[in-house]
Amino acid sequence: MAISVKNISKIYGKQKALDNVSFEIRTGDVVGFLGPNGAGKSTMMKIITGFIPQSSGEVYVNGNNVTEKSLLVRREIGYLPENNPLYLDMYVKEYLKFVAGLYDLENAKARVEEMIKKTGLTVEQHKKIGALSKGYRQRVGLAQALIHDPKVLILDEPTSGLDPNQIVEIRNLISEIGKEKTVMLSTHIMQEVEAICDKIIIINKGMIVADDTTKHIQESLSAAEQQVTVEFDSMPDINEIKKLPGVSKIISHKENTVVLESKGDADIRPIIFNYAVEKKLTVLSLQKQEKSLEKVFQELTK
Ligand code: ADP
Ligand code: MG
Repeated sequence: MAISVKNISKIYGKQKALDNVSFEIRTGDVVGFLGPNGAGKSTMMKIITGFIPQSSGEVYVNGNNVTEKSLLVRREIGYLPENNPLYLDMYVKEYLKFVAGLYDLENAKARVEEMIKKTGLTVEQHKKIGALSKGYRQRVGLAQALIHDPKVLILDEPTSGLDPNQIVEIRNLISEIGKEKTVMLSTHIMQEVEAICDKIIIINKGMIVADDTTKHIQESLSAAEQQVTVEFDSMPDINEIKKLPGVSKIISHKENTVVLESKGDADIRPIIFNYAVEKKLTVLSLQKQEKSLEKVFQELTK
């Protein structure tokens, strides 16, 4: 196992940020660590990388206890922190040389050149980090994380704040890197993990709520239903509504109000509005109760 997390809890003051979290990541896998904001993703990653101590439990990286062998573990891990705090006044190359120096790399100069090439920084290498776009700063962050050729990469929201083109570029870069390394990356975006990960671990409110292959989790998410409550100005024909595309079930109807269920990704609202227009009905109100990711998470683990 590249990473074994065993019964980790983390308490900040009175708040339990991680509650008895356990999971394993196999060597060579690319794993998405998915969860809403505040779920505990960054906290878990900081504990795996040895940046902050856990309150209880143990983490092993390549079989080494992170607390007991922190120096060794840090050499085996590359870490891209959230909001990667880069030295904005340093030049790209200068910064990477500085990082290489921290690891005492013998072939520092060659490694820096290699990382610049690998992360697509050749054209920007002589610029100050502060002068780079967010996408290029993220590349510098990846170069920094990779410079000592770690076996395991921990990337905390590597695409957050990037524009769509940059997101695709960074994703491709991570996929490329993932061919040779174990990667754990966090995100709050489902599509992100769909695009690059073999496995997904979902965390919610400090607890693991799913840990499965991407394929299995996709299947359960796409089957998720949404509930829509529609109030018309007069009674609609329930049998007609039942047959509208996307409507999977009428949950209840009372006078002019219908509560229905729809399945899949499609937005049912325009269908309802078009139906109303056709039947000369007026929609007085329409409310869609999205199954929050949180709810889906709960269902996944029920
Ligand atoms: P995520 O990365 O999933 O958004 P975090 O790990 O950053 O979540 O945070 C998990 C919870 O712990 C949040 O409620 C957050 O407010 C809290 N938290 C994180 N860091 C600290 C800290 N240094 N002190 C107190 N609370 C914190
Ligand atoms: Mg975070």
